[in-house]
Amino acid sequence: MKMFQSHVVVLIAGLFALQMAIVCLVLRRSPGMDRSGLTSFALGDLAATLGACLLAAQGFWPDRVSAGAADLALLLALSAMARGTRHFVAAPGRVLALVVLNLAAGVLVISGALPPSMALVPLPMHWIVVVLAGCQAALLLDLAISIGPLLPTQRGTGRLAALSLVMIALTSAGINAWVVAGPLVELVDGKPLPILETTVPYGALTILNVFAVVGLSVSFALMAHDRLRRMLERRARHDDLTDVLSRGAFWEELEAACTNAERQRQPLTVAFVDLDHFKAINDVYGHMAGDSVLRHFAGLLRKTSGLNDIIGRLGGEEFAIVMPDTTLESGRAASIRLNTAVRAAPCPSEPDAISYTVSIGMALRQPGEDADTLMRRADRALYDAKLKGRNCVSMHSAGQEVQEGGVAKFVTRQRQRLAS
Ligand code: GH3
Ligand code: MG
Ligand code: MG
Repeated sequence: MKMFQSHVVVLIAGLFALQMAIVCLVLRRSPGMDRSGLTSFALGDLAATLGACLLAAQGFWPDRVSAGAADLALLLALSAMARGTRHFVAAPGRVLALVVLNLAAGVLVISGALPPSMALVPLPMHWIVVVLAGCQAALLLDLAISIGPLLPTQRGTGRLAALSLVMIALTSAGINAWVVAGPLVELVDGKPLPILETTVPYGALTILNVFAVVGLSVSFALMAHDRLRRMLERRARHDDLTDVLSRGAFWEELEAACTNAERQRQPLTVAFVDLDHFKAINDVYGHMAGDSVLRHFAGLLRKTSGLNDIIGRLGGEEFAIVMPDTTLESGRAASIRLNTAVRAAPCPSEPDAISYTVSIGMALRQPGEDADTLMRRADRALYDAKLKGRNCVSMHSAGQEVQEGGVAKFVTRQRQRLAS
């Protein structure tokens, strides 16, 4: 009855491992997750399922299934997972060492299963199992060491998952090392150390390792899921060409910044930036070169803006900057720096770099003013900058009249003028 129960337990653990293989493969199909180690973890889970089946089978037919077979499958599972974790932290390697380790372990297990006269390595099976437990302890340690440096960089679910992975890996590495230490001390000293006398029985250690593998896989899948969620969130909020905030996300941030400025009674300045004669850049150099100019400008914007500034692309060649806790004067100085930086650093291109300029309209938020009115005032200032001949910074003062869609009207007028 006892034997039967442990077989059932290990088979259930094997089914969990199978389930985790499916979870890893499903996550692996998500965009951007192709090199995240999930395939290795899925393979590791399948190897763990095999290990669980072999262990159960060995209980039913001890004469037919080698004692080390299940451990060999688990060693393979942990090797795949160690490789997966290294991929996850973008430090792949040690593949050759893992292949050699598994091949050597395979030779040992086959040798142990053969009659003593035919054995390739003169090592009895119980020692082979000890060697395999030592290798498993080393792999578990490697896994924990790979993930360790990631811990401080993670937040929320990602950090919890990484922490649980490290804890599972370290605990099971410790238990495996404990099992290895017992016979080793006995071999050297001739008698066991009292502290190591209570060793874990062989079958129980393998069951524990199957559970550890499932636990590692659950933690890893959670880490991968957290990474995927953050990546998708980022993609949804950022413009894919320039990597600054997209219009919707920028507007959300702007509204939050306005509420905050009202609550804290702090100044808030916005800058509306438009690339000058951008259509001509497209016409002369081509649309692809135009895209490069937009990316180049976004790079300059990121470089020149302050740490707390919020930058977004409102559409086409129009960008905006929100400068929290910034007066109009210091905002103006920042915008002049940006304007100068753009002039000083043309966009690299073949055969010649593309020179371009920007016009900037600015406005300081008035008490009680909402995001919409504020941006309309900045838009009006941009319209003035264009009227002044472009390549300059213009400011809207609170008392000035606001003209809706100033730039749009200006552009339309310019087009009509050019057409006539
Ligand atoms: P102004 O100095 O008055 O702002 O003139 P402009 O030519 O910059 O303005 P206009 O509104 O006439 O032209 C904007 C052009 O930007 C038209 C459009 O084809 C181009 N554009 C919009 N989005 C993109 C984009 O993602 N990539 C590229 N290459 N061009 C874009
Ligand atoms: Mg323009
Ligand atoms: Mg424009």
